[in-house]
Amino acid sequence: MKIGSRKPKAMTNSRTISAAIKKAVMIRSSNKCENCGSKYNLHFDHQIPYSMGGKSTIGNVRQLCSNCNTRAAIVALSQEKMDLYINQS
Ligand SMILES: [Zn+2]
Repeated sequence: MKIGSRKPKAMTNSRTISAAIKKAVMIRSSNKCENCGSKYNLHFDHQIPYSMGGKSTIGNVRQLCSNCNTRAAIVALSQEKMDLYINQS
């Protein structure tokens, strides 16, 4: 392992969603939940979770209300756990 040779991460590799991406997503979604159309408790969500290699790009970031965001997280995390089990065996 090389030490001290790590390149600085590009913006799209960051877990943080840039202001420009947020703005573009908000325009696309008309500032509504992209699943149910709710205007309340909106959150930015990684469609492919960051922990699974999802990037903070306009194609992977969506705006969801807290209800849909929670549901999406449950689906994504259980899928991630299933993948871990599959890879272990
Ligand atoms: Zn929703």
